[in-house]
Amino acid sequence: MSNASLDDLLGRMGATPHITVLTGAGVSAASGVPTFRGDGSLWKNYRAEDLATPSAFARDPRLVWEWYDWRRQVVAMCQPNRAHDVIARWSHRYGDFHLVTQNVDGLHERVDTWGVLRFHGSVWEVSCWRGCDDAPTRWWDDTAPFPSLPPHCPHCGGILRPGVVWFGESIDPLVLEESVAAARCDVFFVIGTSAVVHPAASLVEIARDHGAFTVEVNTEPTPVSGMVDLVLQGAAEDVLDLIEQRLG
Ligand code: NAD
Ligand code: ZN
Repeated sequence: MSNASLDDLLGRMGATPHITVLTGAGVSAASGVPTFRGDGSLWKNYRAEDLATPSAFARDPRLVWEWYDWRRQVVAMCQPNRAHDVIARWSHRYGDFHLVTQNVDGLHERVDTWGVLRFHGSVWEVSCWRGCDDAPTRWWDDTAPFPSLPPHCPHCGGILRPGVVWFGESIDPLVLEESVAAARCDVFFVIGTSAVVHPAASLVEIARDHGAFTVEVNTEPTPVSGMVDLVLQGAAEDVLDLIEQRLG
């Protein structure tokens, strides 16, 4: 880690740079959305890794849907926090801005953030499990709770699946391509992600190799802490509020 300071960051942000922000579950922690690895991350004693996979769904679609139905109801009751607000403001203020989010909760979208690249899809989207010809690839459905589980495809009567990227599945190539392009920026923030899930972590490397000023905001050290120019240890909602106040 170099000796860059908050003042260095503020100086760069004052020069209307191309800013890209990568967010993870920590950004939504203050809103009450459980992270995958923190307290409250277990559901009925299952770990996310046991449920968020195509094979878990193939084995027991009802069980996996019960988990998503519960998560959708939790998120529906949560409110975006100050971190979501500040990022949304930046998305409108900086002409060249991208947000790459690993979050599937839709809270960035709820505060009208511009230019959101959803790395892992959204719990508010669904698709036909067998991919019938009449159905779109994916569509929005905010029914919560569903009257019966698993919900059925309105096109073929088969079962629906959540519109998220599961462990072992690949990220939409277009989203990946746009995210890699966005990482080639002037100031790159990585906020509230444990950064263990690739290729999200590699975006930090792409940004650094491009010469971006890289900043991590997290309550804990992570594998990328040693790689970035500036570590701002603290809660995203507090640190982003401080940056926004200092930017005036
Ligand atoms: P993670 O649970 O692995 O890590 C969360 C990180 O946030 C940790 O490093 C933790 O130290 C940090 N953190 C906790 N509270 C914070 C705060 N207030 N401010 C700043 N940092 C804070 O989450 P991840 O890295 O995003 O990876 C998990 C995967 O699970 C993601 O790819 C995502 O698709 C999915 N997920 C999404 C949500 C969501 O949409 N909100 C929630 C859980 C998991
Ligand atoms: Zn169908």
